[in-house]
Amino acid sequence: MKDSLNALMTEVIAVASERRCAYLMLKDDPFFGRLPSGSDQEAIQFAFAAGEAAAQKVITQHGRSPEGIACSLQVRVTRTDAAISAGKAVLFSEYSDRPPAVTIYTRSVEEANRLIRDNGLAEALGLDDVTPVHLAHELYHHLEAKKLTEGTSGYRIPTLSWGPIRLRTGLPSLGEIAADRFALVVLGLQVPPRAIQFITIHYHNQEYAWQLLEELKRFPA
Ligand SMILES: [Zn+2]
Repeated sequence: MKDSLNALMTEVIAVASERRCAYLMLKDDPFFGRLPSGSDQEAIQFAFAAGEAAAQKVITQHGRSPEGIACSLQVRVTRTDAAISAGKAVLFSEYSDRPPAVTIYTRSVEEANRLIRDNGLAEALGLDDVTPVHLAHELYHHLEAKKLTEGTSGYRIPTLSWGPIRLRTGLPSLGEIAADRFALVVLGLQVPPRAIQFITIHYHNQEYAWQLLEELKRFPA
């Protein structure tokens, strides 16, 4: 029973606060090791605020439907059934800025939707289709790319200081954290996007999904 998807998701939903999910993204950041100790909470808060501000603005101007928002912002949405799995990662969606377009990978999305349906998870998750979650997430990347929102690039950490020379860098994971906050607010999600992805992780690697859950529990709630 320990291995069942339902057992996993019951635990994930109970412990996967938005902050813990954010830690999961932050610790994968290539510059995580450079983040001054003690500033992880501050970095996550910065990203939450960026996602929140963008969401409130978009809701006021364009409403809450990701398809409608894409249309208003002139972002083309295409669907492809091309099998995309880059290494171990399953790709759901992708944003490209020239011209502005979001690609939805229907195989990944339909696989997640089928697992939700077959395991009766819709009620616990508050959704039966993950497409809007991924589309909303990518639309945040559009807002950042086109500077339609303040975004997360203002958060910078020192990478090198050599006499008077100080180099600083942004943290790419903050854009991901902000994009998930954006999706959560625009769609009024019950469960953070990163937590929903445990369904797919479990399908492809049960052992890793349980490991990741243990990791999640160790972050501050
Ligand atoms: Zn993203």
